[in-house]
Amino acid sequence: MKKQKINILITTSVLALLALSGIQGYLIYNTYQLKKDVFIKETKKSVSRIDNTKEMDSLAELWYNHLTENLVAYKTNKLIKEEAITRFKPYTDSLNDIFKDYYTKEINKVNLGYELKYKKTIKSIVLFNDNVLDTIFSAKGGNNYFLFGENFPDNEGNMISKARWFTEHDYEDDNTGNGEVFRTKLDIEIRTQDSINIIGWKRIVFGQMASLFVFSILLFLFMVALFFYSIKVLIKQKKIADVRNDFINNITHELKTPLATLSIVSKSIRNKEIQDSSEKFSNALDILDRQNNRLQKLIDQVMNNALGSEGIVLSKEEISDKRYFDEVLEDFKLSVKDKHVELNTQIELKEVALNIDKFLFTTAILNILDNAVKYGKEKVQISLQTTLKNNSYEIIIKDNGIGISEKEQKKIFEKFYRITSGDIHEVKGLGLGLFYASQIVKAHQGDITLESKPNVGTIFVITIPII
Ligand code: ATP
Ligand code: MG
Repeated sequence: MKKQKINILITTSVLALLALSGIQGYLIYNTYQLKKDVFIKETKKSVSRIDNTKEMDSLAELWYNHLTENLVAYKTNKLIKEEAITRFKPYTDSLNDIFKDYYTKEINKVNLGYELKYKKTIKSIVLFNDNVLDTIFSAKGGNNYFLFGENFPDNEGNMISKARWFTEHDYEDDNTGNGEVFRTKLDIEIRTQDSINIIGWKRIVFGQMASLFVFSILLFLFMVALFFYSIKVLIKQKKIADVRNDFINNITHELKTPLATLSIVSKSIRNKEIQDSSEKFSNALDILDRQNNRLQKLIDQVMNNALGSEGIVLSKEEISDKRYFDEVLEDFKLSVKDKHVELNTQIELKEVALNIDKFLFTTAILNILDNAVKYGKEKVQISLQTTLKNNSYEIIIKDNGIGISEKEQKKIFEKFYRITSGDIHEVKGLGLGLFYASQIVKAHQGDITLESKPNVGTIFVITIPII
């Protein structure tokens, strides 16, 4: 899958996740509103039961009688308009004390399980005088006339009911002093409003929704985790597919070269001229041998690689360092016979007995030497130096090649890693040589490090313990 496709997939998945969480948020909000409404409705029902009782009616009547008395006084000019309301405020307050006792008793009977404030306020009192409206009181800017209950700001509570009383009243006043009876007709309209303030209602509603919240968050986190995991797996799969493609491309190339040489040489052997010259014939056979070995080596490398480092089984043998390096370097020189390679060797003077898997250790050394030629300049200069240091044996292989930048140095031991910048593209390889070399050295309980400067050269240092 192309990187672009993965990016599109990531973007659409993120968008889908966002949309999904948006929808979920919306649904949760709706549920919250619904729960809130139901909760307030239920509370309202319990409270209105208290409001419609005989006790409540008699309290309201007491208040109402007092109000009408004042209104008559106002109509007969004994009181100014404001006083008709303000004057009997202390009386209202004393009625409220009775109301509160009654209310507390009743609300305890209902047993709501949470605290509740209730208030009854007056919005307006209007007198009708022969079709002329006379506003005695009108609530302005939330400034209501507080009647019963506990006073709290309007915005902290919920209105549960509104009422409008309209009464006609004939009133006889014989307190004129001169025995005259004064008749007053009162048409009064009173608008009231009942509100409740449920203490901590948000906490109660949220509490009812807690499991929904937790479940939603868990589900969301699970979706995000699932999404990240899928993308990670996808990217990993893509990397594996890329590596596999590279590997197939490279190995095809690597196999083609020796096979092509083999077919040319085998054809040339049929040639009479070559068959007649024993020197040419043996040379052709040498080439056949070399190419055959190369193919074998290539296949071995791929096979061994498939096993991984844990799969490396060493069959160690003891061998003198001098003899070992003589053999290895002789083989190497033969393989680079036609190239311009200068090799300097400096083996530890004191003879050291190495305990190594000869075949595998040779592969490691040859892989490093191969690279020195592959990534070398026109005139390749290689120096191989070995020294004994306490209980370890150090092999230093130095070349004058193109070098490796610091950034790449850490990665070149990785499986299939090849530097793909500059003109290194020209040289084909599997990116396995150094990986395999480091696995072999590690299997020997050794260590491999490098120092390199671009355009100057590279130094590989292999250290193995001597027992
Ligand atoms: P293979 O050895 O499997 O045929 P390869 O040579 O590409 O392929 P490695 O030997 O593992 O793979 O090397 C990894 C990379 O490190 C190489 O592609 C090369 O770019 C870089 N490299 C290795 N040795 C040297 C060196 N001596 N000088 C410069 N670059 C090097
Ligand atoms: Mg290599």
